[in-house]
Amino acid sequence: MKRSNGESVNPRPVGARLWPRRLGWRLALGFGSVVALMLMALALASLEIRSITHLTQRFATQDMQRLLRVQTLSLYTEGAGNALLRLMNAPREHRVLEYTEVDERNRRIEGIIASLADLLDDPAQESTLQRLVAARAAYSKAFKATVAEIERDRPKAAMRVYTEQVQPSLEEMLIESNTLINRERERVERQMLQAQKSFEQLAKWVAMLSLLAVMLAIVLALRTTRSVVTPLAQLEATALRIAGGDYSSPVLATSAEEVNRVGQALTTMTTAIAARERDIENLAFRDPLTGLPNRTYLLKPTAEQEGRNNCLMLIDLARLKTINESLGFATGDTLIKEVAQRADTVVKRAASSGLIGGHYPLVTHLAGGRFAVSFSAPDRPTVERLRLQLEQAMAQPVLCSGYSVDLSLDYGFADSTGQNAPRPVSTLLRNAEVALHAAKRAAVRFAWYSEAQEAARLSHLGLVSDLRVAVATSQLQMWLQPKFSLSTGRAVGAEALVRWQHPQRGFVSPAEFVPFAEQTGYIGIVTTWMLGEALHILALWAPHHPELSISVNVSTRDLQDPKFCSRVKQLIELHGVDPRRLRLEIVESGLMEDPQHSVAVLHALGQLGVQLSIDDFGTGYSSLAYLQQLPVSELKIDRSFVGHVDVLPATQRLVKSMIEMGHGMGLLVTAEGVETEAEKETVTRLGCDVMQGNLGSGPLHGKALQAWFTGLGPVPA
Ligand code: C2E
Ligand code: MG
Ligand code: MG
Repeated sequence: MKRSNGESVNPRPVGARLWPRRLGWRLALGFGSVVALMLMALALASLEIRSITHLTQRFATQDMQRLLRVQTLSLYTEGAGNALLRLMNAPREHRVLEYTEVDERNRRIEGIIASLADLLDDPAQESTLQRLVAARAAYSKAFKATVAEIERDRPKAAMRVYTEQVQPSLEEMLIESNTLINRERERVERQMLQAQKSFEQLAKWVAMLSLLAVMLAIVLALRTTRSVVTPLAQLEATALRIAGGDYSSPVLATSAEEVNRVGQALTTMTTAIAARERDIENLAFRDPLTGLPNRTYLLKPTAEQEGRNNCLMLIDLARLKTINESLGFATGDTLIKEVAQRADTVVKRAASSGLIGGHYPLVTHLAGGRFAVSFSAPDRPTVERLRLQLEQAMAQPVLCSGYSVDLSLDYGFADSTGQNAPRPVSTLLRNAEVALHAAKRAAVRFAWYSEAQEAARLSHLGLVSDLRVAVATSQLQMWLQPKFSLSTGRAVGAEALVRWQHPQRGFVSPAEFVPFAEQTGYIGIVTTWMLGEALHILALWAPHHPELSISVNVSTRDLQDPKFCSRVKQLIELHGVDPRRLRLEIVESGLMEDPQHSVAVLHALGQLGVQLSIDDFGTGYSSLAYLQQLPVSELKIDRSFVGHVDVLPATQRLVKSMIEMGHGMGLLVTAEGVETEAEKETVTRLGCDVMQGNLGSGPLHGKALQAWFTGLGPVPA
């Protein structure tokens, strides 16, 4: 049986059950049993010491006393015989003294025997004492008989009694007292031996108990330590795992209750941290409006995203700014949510149907009306199919606050084709953004990111920032391409074309940098410089050929500059040139970007007296009614209509109607890019007034220009 956290709930074995779960109890049990064992050893030792003390006391008070008395007895017994012998040989006058001493000794012997009777408790000793008493009685009797013979002055008889009666009884007494002594000595020795034995026994017990206590202490310390150290190491590992973001519950191999409680606390903490992290993640990685993951999430370096998805589709809800401004932000939000929901549904369906890689397709809301779809697709047609499905899903207008609003989306695509490994999401996103901008610029619904385009774009960006330096350091040149009258064949003027001799890149064509200079606003520098150069040349030409004009190309961006008119005026005045000799070419498609404003500026320019031309006519779809409002004097038919016009009857019809229209409005009509005689003849036949092109002359500069000008000859009368 296992709990969800992996802790075993099997019934614990008896030993384990006796082993308390609380660490405190374990420590108490461990130290308690060690202390108990030590106390036992101490009690045993003190008991034994008490019994030894008792034994020693008895030895000192009883045994030694008895031994001493018995020894004294045998000494007195020996002394008694000697005193009797001295009495027998002593002269009469000395006998009284000897009697006193003999009596004293006898009395002492008497006293010792009496006290021994009280002291002895051993039956063998008692019977020996009986015999001693009997011998003593025999000695007393023999002593008296001896004394009687002495008093009768019969020394021989006294000696006889002494040898026959006194001496044997004294020997008897000595033998018995020696027996008593020997027994007492043996007894003392026995007791000493016994005391020594029990002392040794005690030492053994104390040593055993101490050893047991030490072993028990070691075992308990080891068990307790293990039940703390091992789980502590596991807790440490768990803490490190949590730090690494792994929030699985810690599994503790311990039965210690306190450590288990720490483990439980850690589990609680882990769960809380995980929950909080989820909340934080939601806040950080989700967009609250759509509920979709956000840009941060898309760019998060997770294994799922990195290295798997090879495509990124950027979707932009067009006109969101206008909708917000006109219908309110609530409507804008509704549209964003609608797009989010529809896109998410389409992508999920495409993933489950297998159209796109089902690994990790992800729809994210980046900002405003912009969404990114990250997914895997085998090829570009698949991506286009996904776009079509999205388009279908967006076809239904959104109804909000009474308005029916169409959803119009622009797309930028980026993929990892031609790469060994899939590109990082951040790169795909940037590329898709470039593609989306390109699509918007080209006014198409979608565009793929192309490496070559991007390289060109980047090099232009570098170029454009060099433009200011180019003007200051004379890297720019003005080339002039002559224009000829088709009726007389004479030169009527020239178009000024900018050239850039870049110090590192060499010659840079205007087709390469002009569009980007226009986008970035640097074109103003170029136009001003070209105007200055053209007016300078016009001033030089005026004395010899005052009929020649020079056309300068003007960008739509120039027209948006409020100071443009006054700048042109200043320059004309500065060079003292007849303003009618200056022509300004404006590209037809540029005029249509902001027609009302263009009309106003062109009128102001017309007021200055300068001539205006419509360049690249035929490419801009401008209406006749509109053109009529403009103070222009020349139409330049784009060279795409002129090339091979001699062999293209349909183009001829078109060009003819353009010329008729121009003439109808009183304009001079110029054909651009005339390269062959056949083209020249055709445009002449169709009614063109002026031609410009390589057939007449290419753009000229320096000596070639000088030679051309010199070759013009005098002004016709
Ligand atoms: P555009 O104003 O239409 O200028 C005519 C272009 O046609 C010039 O190219 C000229 O060299 C070229 N061209 C002339 N005759 C022929 C021909 O027989 N065959 C062919 N294939 N081409 C011919 P360029 O100089 O490369 O200029 C390209 C465009 O760059 C110009 O078109 C004009 O729109 C712009 N541009 C040139 N210089 C300036 C300038 O100073 N300012 C501005 N804003 N734009 C300029
Ligand atoms: Mg031009
Ligand atoms: Mg042109």
